[in-house]
Amino acid sequence: MKENNKSCAIIGAGISGIAAAIRMRNKGYSVTVFEANSFPGGKLSTESNKGYRFDMGPSVFTLPQYVDELFILSGKNPRDHFNYIPLDPVYRYFFEDGTVIDGYHGKEKYAEEMSAKTIDKKVDVIRYLNKTEEMYNLTAEIFLHNSLHKFKNFFTKRVVKGLLNFGKIGAFDTMNGANQKAFKDKKLVQILNRYSTYNGSSPYLAPATLNVISHVEIEKGAFYPVGGMFSITSSLVELAKEIGVVFNFSTSVREILVENKKLKGIRTDKANLNFDVVISNMDVYNSYLKLLPMAKKPINTLRQPKSSSGIIFYWGIKHDFKQLGLHNIFFSENYEEEFDTIFSKNTIYADPTIYVNITSKHTATDAPEGCENWFAFINTPNNTGQDWDLLVNKARERMIEKVNRILKTDIRPMIECEMVFDPRVIESRTSSAFGAIYGNASNNKFSAFLRHANFSKEIKGLYFCGGSVHPGPSIPLCLLSAKITTALVGS
Ligand SMILES: Cc1cc2nc3c(=O)[nH]c(=O)nc-3n(C[C@H](O)[C@H](O)[C@H](O)COP(=O)(O)OP(=O)(O)OC[C@H]3O[C@@H](n4cnc5c(N)ncnc54)[C@H](O)[C@@H]3O)c2cc1C
Repeated sequence: MKENNKSCAIIGAGISGIAAAIRMRNKGYSVTVFEANSFPGGKLSTESNKGYRFDMGPSVFTLPQYVDELFILSGKNPRDHFNYIPLDPVYRYFFEDGTVIDGYHGKEKYAEEMSAKTIDKKVDVIRYLNKTEEMYNLTAEIFLHNSLHKFKNFFTKRVVKGLLNFGKIGAFDTMNGANQKAFKDKKLVQILNRYSTYNGSSPYLAPATLNVISHVEIEKGAFYPVGGMFSITSSLVELAKEIGVVFNFSTSVREILVENKKLKGIRTDKANLNFDVVISNMDVYNSYLKLLPMAKKPINTLRQPKSSSGIIFYWGIKHDFKQLGLHNIFFSENYEEEFDTIFSKNTIYADPTIYVNITSKHTATDAPEGCENWFAFINTPNNTGQDWDLLVNKARERMIEKVNRILKTDIRPMIECEMVFDPRVIESRTSSAFGAIYGNASNNKFSAFLRHANFSKEIKGLYFCGGSVHPGPSIPLCLLSAKITTALVGS
C-alpha cells in the first residue's frame, strides 16, 4: 500500500471499527485504534468460564464475503486466516404443542419442510421467497451499499431501478401484515416474523421491506465460523496488526477535539492527540453526548426510538441434548402480546420466546466432554431504568420452566456455571445508548432514512461507522458501514 502521510484515529474496536481500520490502512493512512475495553470486538467478544467458552453477542453469521473482502483488499487469501462452513439446517424451531420445524438452507428444501409441517403449500412458500429475493435485489443498492446521505448516490442505474419499483418493496405494509397475507399457518408466520428481531424491532410495526432478511438467511445462507464467532474478531485484529494498524486497549476516548468546525484530534486520559481523520465506532448517540459536548446535535436523528435489548444467560450445561442444534428457538404462544409487552409496556414478557445457541455442537472444545455451552437469550426492552435485578430473576425462572416444558426435562441441576448479561451490562460494556443492541429501532417506514449518516455534516474530518449509523446493525451491515464510511474519506 502507498503511504499518504495522513493519520486516522478509530474510536472503538467493534467489528465496524476494526474493518474501518483495515480499510483506512489500505488507503495509506497511519491508523490507531482506541478501545475502552481490554479486549477487541465490542459486542462480538468472548468469555470463558469453568471449561466452557462463550461468544457473548452475535451468533448468526451471514454474508461472509464482507469479511473475506478485507483479507483480499489487504493482499491475503482469506482461507489462510479465517474459515467458515455453511449450515443446513440453520434453525430448529420448537413450539409448545410439540411441533418441531427445521429451517433449511435454500428455497426448495425450506419450502418442502414448511409445507410438510404447516398447512401452507410449497408453491406459496417458494413464491414468498422469490418475492423477498426480488425485494432484496431492488433495495440492497439503495439501503446497504451506499451512503443514503449523498445526493449523487440516488442517480446510479441500480438505485433508480429500486426507486422506480418502490411499490414492490413493502414500505407501506408491516412485516406481519405481509406475512399474514402470504400464509395461513400461524407457525410459519411466526417463524418469518422473527426476522424483525435481527435489528431489534417488532414485526407488527416494522415495514415489510425487512422481510428481505429472510432471503439473506434462507437463500444466501447462514454460516458457522470455524472456531466460533469470535474468530471473526480475532482474525481481523490479527490482519489489522499485520498491515500496521496500532491498537491501544483499555484507552477510552474522552473527547473529539474540534476547532472552527474542523477536526483536530482526540483526547484520552493521557493526552491530546492530533489526527487528520477521526472515525467514531462508538454509538453515535453517545458520541455526541459524551465526546462532542459543544457540537450542534442532529436532534431528530438522535431522538429516534432505540431498538430492543436482551437478557442472556451463558450456561455451562452438564448434558448433551441430541435434539438440539446450533441455533434453536422455543417460541411463545402469543407473539403479538410478546412484542407489545417489550415495545409498549417496556418490560419482559411472561412467556418469552427463547433463543438457545450452542457452539459446542460444532466446536467440541467449547464445552467439556458430554456437556454444552448454552447462550440462552430473550428479547427485552432497552434500559430506561427498569428493575433489572428483579427482571433477570423472573426471566431465569420463566426460561428454565419453558425449556423444561418443551424438552421434557429439568435443566436446573445441569447448570454447572452461569454468567448473565442484561441491558445495563450491554450498555456499560459497549457504550450502546440505553443498552439497545441494534441502535435505532426500525419500527416505522422511515427508520432507514433516520439513521445517522456516515459522516458529520458539521465537522470536517469526522466520520461514523457501526450498528448505530447507516446502514445499521448486524455483522454484515457493520462491515458495510465501514466500507461506506471509508469510501467517503479522501485518500
Ligand atoms: C446479544 C447480541 C446478539 C446479537 N446477535 C447477532 C447475530 O446473531 N448476528 C449479527 O450479525 N449481529 C448480531 N448482533 C448485532 C451485532 O453484534 C452488532 O450489530 C455489531 O457487533 C456492532 O458492532 P459495532 O462495530 O457497531 O460496535 P460495538 O460492538 O458496539 O463496539 C463498539 C466498541 O467501541 C468501544 N467504545 C465505545 N466508546 C468508546 C470510547 N469513548 N473510547 C474507546 N472505545 C470506545 C466499545 O468499548 C466497543 O468495544 C447481536 C448483538 C448482541 C449484543
